[in-house]
Amino acid sequence: MSVPTAVAAPLPVLGRDVTVPLVTGGEVTYAALDYAASAPALQRVWDDVAAYAPYYGSVHRGAGYLSQLSTDLFENARRTVAEFLDCRDEDQVVFTRSTTDSLNLLAAALPAGCRVFVFETEHHASLLPWRDAEVTCLDAPRTPAQAVATLERALAAREPQGPALVCVTGASNVTGELWPVRELAAVAHAHGARIVLDAAQLAPHHPVSVQDLDVDWVAFSGHKLYAPFGSGVLAGRADWLRAAEPYLAGGGASRKVARRADGGVDVEWHDSAARHEAGSPNVIGAYAIASACKALTEVGFDTLVARERHLIEKVRDGLAGVPEVRVLSLFGDDAPRVGVLSFVVDGWNSSHFAAALSAEYGIGVRDGLFCAHPLVRTLLGGDPQSQGECGAPEAAPGEKSLNAIRVSFGAGT
Ligand code: PLP
Repeated sequence: MSVPTAVAAPLPVLGRDVTVPLVTGGEVTYAALDYAASAPALQRVWDDVAAYAPYYGSVHRGAGYLSQLSTDLFENARRTVAEFLDCRDEDQVVFTRSTTDSLNLLAAALPAGCRVFVFETEHHASLLPWRDAEVTCLDAPRTPAQAVATLERALAAREPQGPALVCVTGASNVTGELWPVRELAAVAHAHGARIVLDAAQLAPHHPVSVQDLDVDWVAFSGHKLYAPFGSGVLAGRADWLRAAEPYLAGGGASRKVARRADGGVDVEWHDSAARHEAGSPNVIGAYAIASACKALTEVGFDTLVARERHLIEKVRDGLAGVPEVRVLSLFGDDAPRVGVLSFVVDGWNSSHFAAALSAEYGIGVRDGLFCAHPLVRTLLGGDPQSQGECGAPEAAPGEKSLNAIRVSFGAGT
């Protein structure tokens, strides 16, 4: 396997120099290999936030200097995110709390009668928000081409051919494998459906262009994109969002409110992104996301991708020498992936293995079913329809593992 010899150094992130005690005595510099759960903030983002912190105020309300400044920064953050995602001019960028929040917002904005199509391989944030719609859950494909063919069949067979939404991940949080988003979007549009991209794992590792992929919406989370604080984004077409009732009702979302003679209250909602951002928004969170978008753009995804590929290949080479290890993959060993990889070790309960890595080596990984129960069950050779619990059930000696171990990298590793 060819590993590039010259790879850029990791970017400065918070927590790189944290030391942790080991059960075997002494301490070691902690190695956080759990970027897929939450990435540490880039030092640059932290510094930007610290520089802004003394100036922050409420947005869209006050005439005061700090209020005006914060409003400018908040609205500039929207533009920065739109540029980062290469949005269409007419797209809206709504600040949310997370990817989960973004997809729930879109679920609340579906037009009447909308059918939703998801693969069973999705993260629960993409699988579950569509409770009020009729959902078609598609079988796990074993190749990207099979994914496209499966979707094509399902969309063609839908009766009636009314509004439909496809929700698909760009990169799996379990296998790290890239999904054929552009091809899926083309199929969706050919069948009069729309598509939302869950970019929670894609955006931190890979450039995302709304226009090039031709997706209708993109959702991602700040805390996976090297920005701390509870912020996320839903970006894309304005029409469904404008036609929907506000996600939350309250100040900021409303343009005009009046008491009616009959004692009721009349309200006119904003048509802009503010319609779905009621209440005082998370200005620092939005500012941090914008700072992260700028930092990643400046460093360049070519550099980031090369570094992650180098790291993931090193891990794969190392694991390949251990016969008890099986790397989990849907699309095959050579499928392109971001810096996320899951595996099981024969004879080991994954949770015990992960706990030992932390206690004895100071390496932080994730174990379990990664909020993608049907996918992990499929990958472990089980039944995706099984109702087993999340967590770390014990596998008896000689039995199949019931959960997995995940290592994930990012700009700071
Ligand atoms: N989608 C994918 C692919 C994820 O990996 C995650 C989180 O792990 C989410 C959605 C949900 O992100 P959040 O917890 O930030 O809402």
